[in-house]
Amino acid sequence: MIDPITDLTLEGVLEIRAPRVAAVPMVFDSPHSGLTIPADFHPAVSAERILVAADTHVDALFAAAPDVGAPLLAALFPRSFLDVNRSLLDMDISMVEGDWPHPVGRSPTAARGMGLMWRYAWGNEPMHSRKLSVAEAEDRIRRYWQPYHATLAQLMHATYGRFGKVYHINCHSMTAEGHAISSDGAGTQRADICLGDLNGTAASPEFVALIRDTLRGEGLEVALNKPFRGAELTQAWSSPAHGRHSVQFEINRRLYMNETTRARTAGFDALQATLTRLCAVLADYAMAQARG
Ligand SMILES: [Zn+2]
Repeated sequence: MIDPITDLTLEGVLEIRAPRVAAVPMVFDSPHSGLTIPADFHPAVSAERILVAADTHVDALFAAAPDVGAPLLAALFPRSFLDVNRSLLDMDISMVEGDWPHPVGRSPTAARGMGLMWRYAWGNEPMHSRKLSVAEAEDRIRRYWQPYHATLAQLMHATYGRFGKVYHINCHSMTAEGHAISSDGAGTQRADICLGDLNGTAASPEFVALIRDTLRGEGLEVALNKPFRGAELTQAWSSPAHGRHSVQFEINRRLYMNETTRARTAGFDALQATLTRLCAVLADYAMAQARG
C-alpha cells in the first residue's frame, strides 16, 4: 500500500503541494525558491544580498504541477544558508571552526564559495559573520538538508512504486548573465531556458526533446547543459535505464522579474501560462509512458 501524497508544511523548512487531480508519474521540486531567513543564520550581509541567489518566484511559475497530478516540493530557506542541491561532500571546511569530522570531496562548487553552505555573497565578500561551530553546521544539515532529501525521496519512491517510472523536474532560475562566481564567467549572455540532463545521461533523449521542442514552440530559446548540466538532485534521482528521469530546468530571470528589485514583471503571467501548458504536455507524456 502506497501512502497518498498530501499537502505538508514544515515551518521554515519545506512544503509539499500535493496533486489536486489523479496522480501522474512526475515530481517537481524547487530547492532554491525559499525566502525565509532562519534565525540561526548569522549572515554578514543584508537580507537583499542573501536573497540575490534565491530562485525567487520559481515555485509560483510551476504552480500548475499539482493541477496536472504531480507534487511540488519547495524549500523555504535560502540556498546560501544551506543548499539542498549540493551533496554533503560539498561542505566547505574553511567555514568551520575546528576539524570537520565527516568526509568531504574535491568540490568545484565549494571552491567557488557556493558549496553546501555559501562562503561568499556574490563576489568575495563573506556570507557569514563568523565561522560556524561543527555542532552548528551539523545541526543545519540535520534540520534542513536531511528533511528535504528525505521528503523528496518519499515523493520519488511513492510515485515510482505506483507507476514503475518517474519523471523529475528540478526547478531553478538563472541570472540573465554569468557573474563573478558562476562557471560561465561574468557577462556571458544566457538563453531563455537551460535544460540540464547531465550531458544526456539523466533522462531519456525523447523526454528532454519534448521539453525543448514544446518550449521552442512557445517562442523560447532553449540551451542544453550550458551553462548548467545538473547538480546533486538530478544526479541523485536519475537512472533512465530503470525508468527514473531527471532534468534540471533553469529559467532566465529576465523573462519574469526585475533582477534588482526582484519584483515580478509583466512577463510573469505569460511565462507561467507557458509553463502551465508545458506541465500538461509532460503529464500526458509521462502517463502514456507508464501505461506503455
Ligand atoms: Zn537554483
